[in-house]
Amino acid sequence: MKVGQNTVVTIDYQLLDADGQMLEQEQGIAYLHGGHGGVLPVLEAALEGAAVGQEVRARIDPDDGFGHFDENAIRREPRSAFPPDVEVGMQFAGSPNDSDDMAVYTVTEVGDDHVLVDGNHPLAGQTVEFVVMVRGLRNATEEEVAHGHAHGPGGHHH
Ligand code: ZN
Repeated sequence: MKVGQNTVVTIDYQLLDADGQMLEQEQGIAYLHGGHGGVLPVLEAALEGAAVGQEVRARIDPDDGFGHFDENAIRREPRSAFPPDVEVGMQFAGSPNDSDDMAVYTVTEVGDDHVLVDGNHPLAGQTVEFVVMVRGLRNATEEEVAHGHAHGPGGHHH
């Protein structure tokens, strides 16, 4: 049996940065394969046709992943707009100029009169690589296909 349309795939994965350092890992994730949005489309394309026990690698460039680094997302704000104990690494929610979107800003510099915050995703501009091991594979049930996600261990619970 191979990974294909409407199969439920159980995977372990590691996410590596461009230097091969591990950023995160998950085990026993089950998703419904075949354009249901269970995993990133590039990852799904790499897994197509894989068998249990097979390792698959997929590089994710900024266009498909975490976006490009945006200098405009770095903002200089008055020190008085922050709590007295503000320090580098703290995160605040805010809305970018001229928009209603909310973004997470990370404090990158604290001066006497100003604070620099960066609204870029920490992985913005980076090409990352998923290393995925296929652990399990079965045909999806009609109910899973109707719902658009996997049920059971590692999947959706209702
Ligand atoms: Zn469901």
